[in-house]
Amino acid sequence: MKHISGVLVVESPEELRAWCAEQRRVGLSLGLVPTMGALHEGHLRLVDLCRSHVDRVIVSVFVNPTQFAPGEDFERYPRQLQADCAMCASRQVAVVYAPTPSAMYPEGFQTHVEVEQVPQRWCGASRPGHFRGVATVVTKLLNAAMADVAVFGEKDWQQLQVIRQLCRDLDHPTEILGAPIVRENDGLAMSSRNVYLSPTERSGALSISRGIDQLIARARSADAQPRDLEAQLASSVTAAGGVVEYAAIVDPQTLEPLTDLRHAGRVLVAARFGRTRLIDNAPL
Ligand code: AMP
Repeated sequence: MKHISGVLVVESPEELRAWCAEQRRVGLSLGLVPTMGALHEGHLRLVDLCRSHVDRVIVSVFVNPTQFAPGEDFERYPRQLQADCAMCASRQVAVVYAPTPSAMYPEGFQTHVEVEQVPQRWCGASRPGHFRGVATVVTKLLNAAMADVAVFGEKDWQQLQVIRQLCRDLDHPTEILGAPIVRENDGLAMSSRNVYLSPTERSGALSISRGIDQLIARARSADAQPRDLEAQLASSVTAAGGVVEYAAIVDPQTLEPLTDLRHAGRVLVAARFGRTRLIDNAPL
C-alpha cells in the first residue's frame, strides 16, 4: 500500500478486498465510485453523494481496455493518477483503487459478463463489445469491494441501466445509486473527453444540451411526435458541425424507442465533434 497526493492507493483486488474487510470488521459502511480517472467535478459529485450514504468512500481509477472498441481512444485517453488522487483527497476519499491492467486481467483470463437486452441499441450498437467490457469490469470491482452502495452517473444512462440489470440478475448485494448529470455553466455535460475539443468543436458541442432543452419544450405540445422531435434534435446538432450517432426518445429502463409521449421517457444523444464522441441525456 502507498500514498499518492495524501490518499491511500491500493493496486490489486487482493489488497482492496483486505482493506475493505478490515473496514467492515470495525463496523464501517463502504461505498464505491468506479471511474476511468481524469476526474472532474462530475466525478466528485458522485463521491459527495456516496459519502452522504456511507462511512468510507472508495474511488476506482481504471482505464478499462475491454470496454474500448478497436480504433477508439484507449491509448490517448487522459491518465493523471497524481492529480486524481489530490482531487480525491480534497473530497475525503478513503482509498483510491488503481489496479494495473494485468492485475485486472491476468494471463488466462476468460470470463465475461454479458447483459442481453439493455445493451442492444444506442451506445451498444455503435461500440461493439463496450457493454460486455463495462459489465465485466464493474462486476469485478463490485466483487472486490463488496460495498454497501456503488454510485454511477446518469450521464451514462444506458450504462446505469446495464449495471442495475446485472446486479438484479446476478443477485449482487451492492445497492446501485444514480447521480444527476453535472454540467459546465453553459450546459455542456462534463466529461473527461471534453479536453479533446478544439474551441470551435467546444462551441458546436453546446448544440447537444441546447437541442435536448428545445426537444423537451417542444414535447409539451399536444401533437408532438417522438420521431419528429428526434429528427429536429439530430438536425440541430448536425447544423452545429456534429456527426450524430443517435438522437432517441426511449423508455428509461428498457431503452426501447418510446412511441407515446404521455409515458415517462428519456432523451439520449451521441454525436461526434471532430474525433471526440460525446453523449448526453435528460428525462422527458
Ligand atoms: P468515466 O470516468 O467517464 O467512466 O465516468 C465514471 C463515472 O462518472 C460514471 O458513472 C459516469 O456516469 C460518471 N460521470 C462522468 N461524467 C459525469 C457528469 N458530467 N455528471 C455525472 N456523472 C458523471
